[in-house]
Amino acid sequence: MFASGGSAWSTGLWQTRAMTGTFVEPQPTPLALLLLGHGADSGSERGVECPGDLPAPSDPDLVARAARARAALGSRVYILGHHYQRDEVIQFADVTGDSFKLSQMAAANPEAEFIVFCGVHFMAESADILTADEQRVILPDLAAGCSMADMAEIGQVEQCWRDLEAAGVADVTVPITYMNSSAAIKAFTGRHGGSICTSSNAERSLEWAFDDDWQTSEKKVLFLPDQHLGRNTAVRDLGMALDDCVVYDPRKPNGGLTVEQLQTARMILWRGHCSVHGRFTPSCVDEVRERVPGVTVIVHPECTYEVVEKADVVGSTEKIIATIAAAEPGTSWAVGTELNLVKRLALQHPDKEIVYLDKTVCFCSTMNRIDLPHLVWSLESLVEGTVVNQITVDSDTQHWARVALDRMLALPGPTASRD
Ligand code: SF4
Repeated sequence: MFASGGSAWSTGLWQTRAMTGTFVEPQPTPLALLLLGHGADSGSERGVECPGDLPAPSDPDLVARAARARAALGSRVYILGHHYQRDEVIQFADVTGDSFKLSQMAAANPEAEFIVFCGVHFMAESADILTADEQRVILPDLAAGCSMADMAEIGQVEQCWRDLEAAGVADVTVPITYMNSSAAIKAFTGRHGGSICTSSNAERSLEWAFDDDWQTSEKKVLFLPDQHLGRNTAVRDLGMALDDCVVYDPRKPNGGLTVEQLQTARMILWRGHCSVHGRFTPSCVDEVRERVPGVTVIVHPECTYEVVEKADVVGSTEKIIATIAAAEPGTSWAVGTELNLVKRLALQHPDKEIVYLDKTVCFCSTMNRIDLPHLVWSLESLVEGTVVNQITVDSDTQHWARVALDRMLALPGPTASRD
């Protein structure tokens, strides 16, 4: 199964011990899924169509074609591969990582004329913001968006700010925006005195916004666009009560909140979530503990508060990778994050038992839109002198998004790990 729309995937394509034990048919997701591709909201964060004349997926020469094009381009091209990408794409990546690390790596390679970002649209935008003007960022499939980023559209966020102004609290509200957001939302954050955060530094970002002590601070935070990362960080790391957080629903007048709720809340959480991590439920944790005795459950903080509370370890994709790499041979891990990464971890660590947290396998459909045909097409086009699917962010948006990103980079040193 793919989250956020898309077709089914054979559950037999990869196996760990637990998964070979029981073959589970994909189940329909209970979550509302965004429609992607043609006919989707053209004002949202992602691109909506791919104009390419793609090679057939069945072409047996695809790997050789990608390798030839890659070799012909040499140091003119730098290929970034997000952790959630397919193996067929990752094999051609010059570097793998999370979105922020990849953008920084692109900026650290100014000799690369072309940055091919195997990830999703907001990541390519971030790379364009952080790289030099002459570097051109390419997203092999323009339909590779992100359902979470799409849940915060700039017009909605500006309306939210007007609601905060009407409630008399905008001047004490600091926007903190997760990397998984459009360039327009990042720029909004920069304009309004806020900072970007990643899943690794969300705690530090909130501490900064609250002047190091949320209990004595007069500030409040508007957290965009992932309500779960915001809630998990505020409650688990900063020690707020769940009641200190309210959820602003952009589809409702005043976000579905009273003026008094906006005035008393400490965390105003945008109603957005990741359709992949939002699939995990507390019962997934209970079931895997029964299925795999002695298992350690490690999840991403984009999971719901209820799931995170039941897990043993919580951390970003980089932390999940490092924790499992450092684990003792023979240990068992249930991992609550995107399936391509879990599959790769299982293959990389055959001395450990690594299972997917849910019995129903689920990939990020938009990440999976970047496949070998799209990569071959974009690389061969570059060899022929045609730049396809370039992602550009206008200079004003770049400027203010960069302000918000620089505030994150200037945050004080790391806080102790919570895990
Ligand atoms: S895994 Fe979630 S947050 Fe990441 S790209 Fe997919 S939908 Fe967006």
